[in-house]
Amino acid sequence: MILVTGGAGYIGSHCVLALQEAGYEVVVFDNLSSGHSEVIGCTELFQGDLTNLPDIMAVFEGRKIDAVMHFAAKIEVGESVIAPQKYYYNNVYGTLNLLNAMKEFNVSKIVFSSTAAVYGEPEYTPINENHPKNPINPYGRTKLMIENILDDYDKAYGLRSVCFRYFNVAGADTQGRTGEWHEPETHLIPNILKAGSGKIFEIYGADYDTKDGTCIRDYINVENLAQAHLLGLEYLLNGGATDCFNLGTNEGSSVKEVFAACEKITKSEIPVKIHPRRAGDAAVLVADNSKVKSVLGWSPKKTLEDSIASAYQWEKSLQGVLIA
Ligand code: UDP
Repeated sequence: MILVTGGAGYIGSHCVLALQEAGYEVVVFDNLSSGHSEVIGCTELFQGDLTNLPDIMAVFEGRKIDAVMHFAAKIEVGESVIAPQKYYYNNVYGTLNLLNAMKEFNVSKIVFSSTAAVYGEPEYTPINENHPKNPINPYGRTKLMIENILDDYDKAYGLRSVCFRYFNVAGADTQGRTGEWHEPETHLIPNILKAGSGKIFEIYGADYDTKDGTCIRDYINVENLAQAHLLGLEYLLNGGATDCFNLGTNEGSSVKEVFAACEKITKSEIPVKIHPRRAGDAAVLVADNSKVKSVLGWSPKKTLEDSIASAYQWEKSLQGVLIA
């Protein structure tokens, strides 16, 4: 059985579906502070909080957990600057409790949801895994701390881990079972798709040193991302050593390009205006994904357009839920 912490969240829920489709039994652990139980169907849900050790201990009791996928975390960069305590407490302390429980119950494999934010301001692009790690906000620092903790736990206790450093995750389940559902929503594609009926999409800066002045990001499809997690899990189950991998496409798209693709796919004119830059945004963030390709045999299959199309379908159903 695979334990998925944060399994009711955006990326976690796609991995829950992928695990089940691959034949794994899954138990989800989630405090539902930002996740939604609707997106995991009838998967077993244990509602608890990682910062409360007895909660997570209770999940391991009476279940044969073979490995963990760990997504539960606070993930808003801006909030992490204003409220770092919340981030260190939830992300770092919460993970320590999870690792405690794993150690107690002799569970020695974990796939960890990390981020390209561990690299900080890019010194070169595309970014490979050896790029210096200098996160520029508390969120990124919590993720890097956890990566370091996992390395130390391997050396001391034999806990093996795969850390995936995500670039910009996009899209939704093509069967419409789950998708991006953040409140408030800060991400580019859902924000573009939510514009209209009085809401104007804001481009955060059009004066960057890029081809069209807007920021360039590497958008990786969430279903493809979930497949990488399955490969990471199988790698660990087959005895693979602790390692970290970028998950991205090697290709960048500008905010204006993403916006144009959204207008094309939705067949609508989306209201837009140029806004000043958002603090902390790097001009270009693109992954070098050669390591995950060669070690895990993973490669991204879906295009940015595929991601926008599934995100649009999901956004329409979400608006139906919220209006209903
Ligand atoms: N962005 C934007 N308007 C929005 C949301 C995002 O122009 O309403 C830009 C943002 O400045 C960045 C890119 O879109 O350059 C991707 O931002 P997102 O928040 O989706 O992901 P991040 O790169 O911060 O992880």
